[in-house]
Amino acid sequence: MCGIVGYLGKNKAQDILVEGLSKLEYRGYDSAGIAIMENGEIESDKCKGRLSNLQSKLEEKPIQGRIGIGHTRWATHGEPSDVNSHPHLNKDGSIAVVHNVIIENYIELKEELISLGYEFKSETDTEVIPHLVDHYYEGNLLDAVIKATKRMDGSYAIGVMTEKEPNKLIAVRKDSPLIVGIKPGETFIASDIPAILNHTRDIYLLEDNEFVVIEEDKVTILDENKELVSKGFKEEEILASSLVIKNQDGTYVDRFRKRFMIPIRDVKDRVIAFGGRVLDDSKPKYINSPENIVYSK
Ligand code: GLU
Repeated sequence: MCGIVGYLGKNKAQDILVEGLSKLEYRGYDSAGIAIMENGEIESDKCKGRLSNLQSKLEEKPIQGRIGIGHTRWATHGEPSDVNSHPHLNKDGSIAVVHNVIIENYIELKEELISLGYEFKSETDTEVIPHLVDHYYEGNLLDAVIKATKRMDGSYAIGVMTEKEPNKLIAVRKDSPLIVGIKPGETFIASDIPAILNHTRDIYLLEDNEFVVIEEDKVTILDENKELVSKGFKEEEILASSLVIKNQDGTYVDRFRKRFMIPIRDVKDRVIAFGGRVLDDSKPKYINSPENIVYSK
């Protein structure tokens, strides 16, 4: 178990990604990396070891841009090394992927992809994902990611970006946590709440097989049939960010604006599931990092 973060917004992605990853250090990791859309091209840096190693590299050679994904790795397939660190890219570097947990059928997928001419650089199970997305890409990243995930057995939370649709991030999860945080002009994804708590409390917890498509002006959450996932939120409050509702004729025009409130019960369950302890009703905290207030009303 390790960590994913993603950002699309008006600020410098590098700082937000690295800060988010630092808040996920409690999950344990052996390497770290980021990929950012810089002038329409994916720039990536990654390395084995502490997040501070990556930070030193980024201080020497910062990556500019407002859209990106980041990862702390806990190796399951392939030793901790620079090349096995995430993000993983397709051959021409136009698709970048970060992934948590394990693709169980990666050997058969890898053999199939090799027979199609794909070349692998790392020993990871994860590297099948950018190649699968590349294989299925026909001008629509969401379609390619849906097709790729249909081929993947196992558990995953993934974040994907491509130079071909440079103002977009896509994320999906199955049996691994992933959240979406929203504030006006900025959207975040993360494996857990502390990674984005400095930025927003408007947080939505993704369910299995929900795809979130993050664009400049909207966030859309869809199922694998591209049907809008309807959500029940406890509180209704006007917020500049919005979800997009799909009409019966397939267009996305009707917007509803609601504040994303996490039911306190869900937060408590998650704190306990992650080895934490609920200290009192209003302020559950992580046992190992008491400064991380997970939720306060
Ligand atoms: N299975 C992947 C790897 O070994 C991801 C591990 C993780 O969750 O960090 O690279």
